[in-house]
Amino acid sequence: MKKLLLLIFSTVFFSCTNAEVVPESRTMALLERSKALKLRGEKVEQRLYKKKDSIERLSGYSNIKSNTQDVDFVNIQELSDDFVLDMKYATKDNFLKEKVYSCAKCFVREEVAKSLIEANKALLKQGYRIKLFDCYRPHSVQKKMWKIFPNPGYVADPKGGSIHNKGAAVDITLVRSGGGSVDMGTDFDYFGKKAHHSYTALSKEVLENRKLLRSTMEKYGFKTIRTEWWHYNFKSTTKYKISDFRWKCE
Ligand SMILES: [Zn+2]
Repeated sequence: MKKLLLLIFSTVFFSCTNAEVVPESRTMALLERSKALKLRGEKVEQRLYKKKDSIERLSGYSNIKSNTQDVDFVNIQELSDDFVLDMKYATKDNFLKEKVYSCAKCFVREEVAKSLIEANKALLKQGYRIKLFDCYRPHSVQKKMWKIFPNPGYVADPKGGSIHNKGAAVDITLVRSGGGSVDMGTDFDYFGKKAHHSYTALSKEVLENRKLLRSTMEKYGFKTIRTEWWHYNFKSTTKYKISDFRWKCE
């Protein structure tokens, strides 16, 4: 009987201590896990705040000059008064015959804007300035354009996107610094051989005008494409992602 009592006692005692050990270690593990989860939650929260910050900065762009990095979008008119704006896709005066921008604004990546401003300064010294036809183009607008005109010869397929969607391409021409027009041989968005860089059956004046624009843009870090005298890509575009940031219109 004594033995039996001892056996019962020891069984109860050990099972109790065991019962205590298991929940304690489990509690510790749970605590550790909840700490890790909390930490992860804080990190996610921080990332969201950062994102929210940059989105607010983009949509508000009140202190854009002091707060931007090279990859941020900037409104060129907030950085320089020296450009002429003629944003064709904010009107119906384009090959789509439709207005696809709500309002006329020229946004590009900050690094692109800086180079464009330098190129414009160099042209101003020679009696010219840059007129802008198109700059950054939101990806949703690219889709809209593709829907209206699904021809890869005229519009970049939104699947691959355009350098315009990255904020690293501009469509431009020259005007006299006083505003007078400069003959470039064709209109903007003329799709044909006459708009190619290799096409030379043009007047000496036109060829010189195209050459001036091209040499200046190349000097300040831009590259041409074969088929459009008005289109310039920034030299490095890989670090920029296709974006759908949309500017405010008020
Ligand atoms: Zn273009």
